[in-house]
Amino acid sequence: MLTGSQNPASDAWLAGRIAQVGERIAAACRSCGRDPSEVRLLAVSKGHPASTIRNAALADLTRFGESYVQEALPKIAALADLALEWHFIGRLQTNKTRAVAEHFQWLHGLDDERLARRLSAQRPSHAPALNVCIQVNVAGETRKGGIAPESVEPLANTVAGLPGLRLRGLMGILPAGLAPTQRRALFAALASLQARLRANGLQLDTLSMGMSEDFAEAIAEGSTLVRIGTALFGERTLVP
Ligand SMILES: *Cc1c(COP(=O)(O)O)cnc(C)c1O
Repeated sequence: MLTGSQNPASDAWLAGRIAQVGERIAAACRSCGRDPSEVRLLAVSKGHPASTIRNAALADLTRFGESYVQEALPKIAALADLALEWHFIGRLQTNKTRAVAEHFQWLHGLDDERLARRLSAQRPSHAPALNVCIQVNVAGETRKGGIAPESVEPLANTVAGLPGLRLRGLMGILPAGLAPTQRRALFAALASLQARLRANGLQLDTLSMGMSEDFAEAIAEGSTLVRIGTALFGERTLVP
């Protein structure tokens, strides 16, 4: 055991970070009266080698998030002996839909009907439907991923009707540098949009919000899946 090492690939260092993040998630749940079992941890492994992911899997993490198809595919292949769940969380380009449909179990950044139809058609028939979260541009940022809140419902209804996809919920990314109260307000807006879709009959069970810097506020507003990279693995070392 390389106790105290700063090398993210070392199992003891990583096990400590994982325990720490688990504690912080539990504390965030306690302070708003939620059961920690309602919040799943997605370990964002982009920028880190397969060896680090293997160590994280040994420490019982099972869900991993990747943002770049080219970086992810060799890692998924190298770790095929482990029962891991792979989530694509990056910007999806048209020429990458097939790779995502074939190699991932989840997609978090869907914001386009045409891409949804392609993914559904390209999902292998032997595989269960691809789990999908629609990305909402909660802060109204220009040139950022996600669709406007008012456009979510029609896309959600389309996705819910596609055989290769299974709509699970909504996903949002906040701009950096917001105060906690601003974060809370934007996360709350996403949560209420999700609640409205459910009231209109869509069966959604996943609210994908919260990253290393803002997951406590996301949990306070009802997140069921936090996407955490830096707080678990340290600075990213692989350049895309
Ligand atoms: C990189 C990334 C994360 C993780 O960010 P950290 O700040 O390292 O926790 C979460 N979600 C998305 C969509 C990302 O691209």
